[in-house]
Amino acid sequence: MTPSSHFDIIIMGGGLVGLTLGIGLSKHGVRCAVIDPAQPETTLAPNFDGRVSSISSASWKLFQALGIAERLEGKGCPIERIWVSDGLQPGVLDFAPPQDDDTPMGIMFENRETRLALRDAALAAENLTLFQPDRATHVKRTLEGVSVTLDSGTQLSASLLVGAEGRGSPTREAANIPVAKWSYNHVAMVTAITHEVNHANTAYEIFYPGGPFAILPMQPGTRSAIVWTVPKAQAAGMLALGERGWAAEAQKRMGGFLGEIQVAAPRSSYPLGYHRAARITDTRLALVGDAAHGIHPIAGQGVNLGFRDAAALIEVIVDGMRLGLEPGDAQLLTRYQRWRSLDTLSVTVAMDGLVRLFDVPGRIPSAIRRAGLAAVQKMGPLKDRFMAEARGESGALPVLLTGETV
Ligand SMILES: Cc1cc2nc3c(=O)[nH]c(=O)nc-3n(C[C@H](O)[C@H](O)[C@H](O)COP(=O)(O)OP(=O)(O)OC[C@H]3O[C@@H](n4cnc5c(N)ncnc54)[C@H](O)[C@@H]3O)c2cc1C
Repeated sequence: MTPSSHFDIIIMGGGLVGLTLGIGLSKHGVRCAVIDPAQPETTLAPNFDGRVSSISSASWKLFQALGIAERLEGKGCPIERIWVSDGLQPGVLDFAPPQDDDTPMGIMFENRETRLALRDAALAAENLTLFQPDRATHVKRTLEGVSVTLDSGTQLSASLLVGAEGRGSPTREAANIPVAKWSYNHVAMVTAITHEVNHANTAYEIFYPGGPFAILPMQPGTRSAIVWTVPKAQAAGMLALGERGWAAEAQKRMGGFLGEIQVAAPRSSYPLGYHRAARITDTRLALVGDAAHGIHPIAGQGVNLGFRDAAALIEVIVDGMRLGLEPGDAQLLTRYQRWRSLDTLSVTVAMDGLVRLFDVPGRIPSAIRRAGLAAVQKMGPLKDRFMAEARGESGALPVLLTGETV
C-alpha cells in the first residue's frame, strides 16, 4: 500500500476495462486505487476464462499508447478479413482493408493473455495501487468526496469513484441508476478448434436463426476459437455431447470449408443478455465497461466499447485536472456522460437489431437478408462505414484511440 490512502480516483473492479482505465490514468500522473475481490491466481489460471476477444485496431492503438501492446506482441492473431453470411447460402459480405492498407481490422487475443498483460502493466504503473484481493465493505459518496473502507480495514478517500465491476455492478445498484435490460433466448458455447485448412486470418460470422456461429482466428494457421450461439432450450443437450459429437454438429454449421476439425480446448458456456444504464454518472461517480452497458457478442464489440469509455474518461479527467478541476467535478462528469451516451446507444441498439434480424427463421427473411448483404457488399461507402465501426474508428474518437497520449 502507498503511505497515503488518498487517491484522485478509486476504481471498483480490476477486469479488462477497470485495469486499462487505471493504467491509463496512472500514465497521465493521476493517482488511482483499483479494488477487486477476485484472487489473481484464480482469474489468471488457464481454465478461468476460455474466451478470446478481438481487440479492434483503435483499441490496439490505445494499448500502444499505454504500453500494454508491447506485453501482448506476438501473442495474438491479426484479423485481415471478416466474412459474413446468412447460413451457408450465397450472398456473402466480405470485409478486407484496401491493398495499400496493411493495418489489420483487429487482433484476436485469448482473454487470459490480455489479463496477464494488464496485470503486469498495472503492477509496473507508478501511480496505481492494486487492492486485490480485497473488497469494499463501506462506500460513501458526498458532494465533497468519496470514502471507502476495505475488508482488510484500510480506509481510502478520493475525489471520484468509478464503477467497473461488470454486468452486476454493485456501485451502479447503490447509486439507484435505472438499467434497461433483457435476456436473449441464447447461450454462447465457447471453445477452440484445430482445422485442416489455413484460416488465412479470416473471422467468419455465419448467421443462423437460433444464433450466430463465429469462427475466429486464434493463432496464425490452423487454430480458431468458436463462439457458437444456440437457443437456451438446446444448450444443455449440445453441451452434454461428447467432443466428437459436438465437433460433428459444429462441422455441419461450417460446411467443411476449413476441412476436418478437432476440439482443442475445454468447452464453456455463457448466457447472453442486453443491458444499458440510463446514465453513466452520478455525484462523484462514473461507470465504465459492462457496468454501464452489455451487448450480445455477435460482432465482438463489448470490451471495445468499454475501452472507448476508458479512453474518453481519461481524456476528460486529464484535460480537467490540467485546468485545475478535481477529477470528480460535476462539469467533467457531464462531459463524459454526453460524449459516451450517443456512441453506446448507437452500438448497443445496432447489435440488438442485428441479433433480432438474423433470428427470424424462414426462406423469405433469409432471401431479404442475403439481398441486403449483397447490396452492402457492392456499396463502397456503406461498406467502408461498417468497416470503420468494426475497427472502432467511427465517431468522435478520444485521442488515446489514435495512439497518442492526452
Ligand atoms: C461469450 C462472450 C464472448 C465475448 N466476446 C467478445 C469479443 O470478441 N470482443 C469483445 O469486445 N467483447 C466480447 N465479449 C464481451 C466482453 O467479455 C465484456 O464486454 C468485457 O469482459 C467487459 O469488461 P469489464 O472489465 O467491464 O467487466 P468484467 O470483465 O466483467 O470485469 C469486472 C471485474 O470486476 C470485479 N468485481 C466484481 N464484483 C466486484 C466488486 N463488488 N467490487 C470490486 N470488483 C468487483 C471482477 O472480479 C472483475 O475483475 C464477450 C462476452 C461473452 C459473454
